[in-house]
Amino acid sequence: MRIFKASMKLRSFMLMFILLILISACTTRFVTETPGPVRNVVLIIGDGMGLSHIYSAMSVYDGELNMAKAKHIGFSKTHSFDNYNTDSAAGGTAISSGVKTRNGMIGMSPDTVNVKTMIEWVHEKGLAGGVVSTSAVTHATPASFLSHNISRENYEELAEDFLKTQPEVFIGGGLSNFVNRQDSVNLIPELQESGYQIVYTIEDLLKADANKLAGLLADEHLPKMSEGRGDLLAYSSIKALQTLRKNKKGFFLMIEGSQIDWAAHDHDTRYLIEETLDLDMTLGVVLDFAEQNGKTLVIVTADHETGGMTLVGGDPTKRSVAASYSTGRHTGIVVPVFAFGPGAGLFNGFYDNTEIFEKIRFLLRL
Ligand code: MG
Ligand code: ZN
Repeated sequence: MRIFKASMKLRSFMLMFILLILISACTTRFVTETPGPVRNVVLIIGDGMGLSHIYSAMSVYDGELNMAKAKHIGFSKTHSFDNYNTDSAAGGTAISSGVKTRNGMIGMSPDTVNVKTMIEWVHEKGLAGGVVSTSAVTHATPASFLSHNISRENYEELAEDFLKTQPEVFIGGGLSNFVNRQDSVNLIPELQESGYQIVYTIEDLLKADANKLAGLLADEHLPKMSEGRGDLLAYSSIKALQTLRKNKKGFFLMIEGSQIDWAAHDHDTRYLIEETLDLDMTLGVVLDFAEQNGKTLVIVTADHETGGMTLVGGDPTKRSVAASYSTGRHTGIVVPVFAFGPGAGLFNGFYDNTEIFEKIRFLLRL
């Protein structure tokens, strides 16, 4: 392990981990896209990421986005049980459990009965599960994959559910919900007793080699790209893949670009594009893993669109776009779904967000 010296630049870490994962490089993405068995599923969610968000990033990027390489593309209808415009709690719950619920609710049916979340589904079959996000891990999207609560704002209770469900890996912000709690209980010792290695920095995360790994890299949310987040999401995703792949039966991993939504709420197009490009770069490293692995389905989608964003102008020679927003909130428009690898063909067409869950359940034989 001498190669993992703290003095090494993160970029070098990145290359090293990609090389470790790749072992032998493939030249083309999914040359044979056979409908073979799916052992692993990586679901990448751009929170609030509609078509305009993606196309604005495509328009200013000097090269081809990884999302643009998808051969299988569908549309997800995002409305919640009680609202045409879903929030991330109901949106995440629909994808995680196949149940449409009320806005604000996590891992519960509209009548407040707990529903089985994706990580609970995969655990029942002996597979591993994990979440990675650029927000607090206790925020609505990641929490929807393993927690149950009547309100997305009960962050401390949502943190307690990490101890109950015990995903094999979780990486993001949210440390304060585990340690600086109203009830003065520190959840870190309990996590350690449950077998978790807990790390607080990206350097320690990359050195970690435990079977159960918790990366709590910020008190609340991770910094924006413009604040120097760098390639943290990609590194975290690679480490999550390395941890989860130890389970030979397979795994489910949810990776979230959390801040696309926040940028869209603020009508901050530059922020939005930077966060979308970061998610696409993360998709690239996930596709590298999936290509080499051969039994990994990769899905990219959103829980909803945010901002009612459209593009009213642009100049490809200057790599610029002009965006317009029709609301400061979420909208009801369908969002794209991109799928890569075995089983990807199932994701063509128009369908409810709950069908994303059904398709994953079918492919992983849950
Ligand atoms: Mg989110
Ligand atoms: Zn939002």
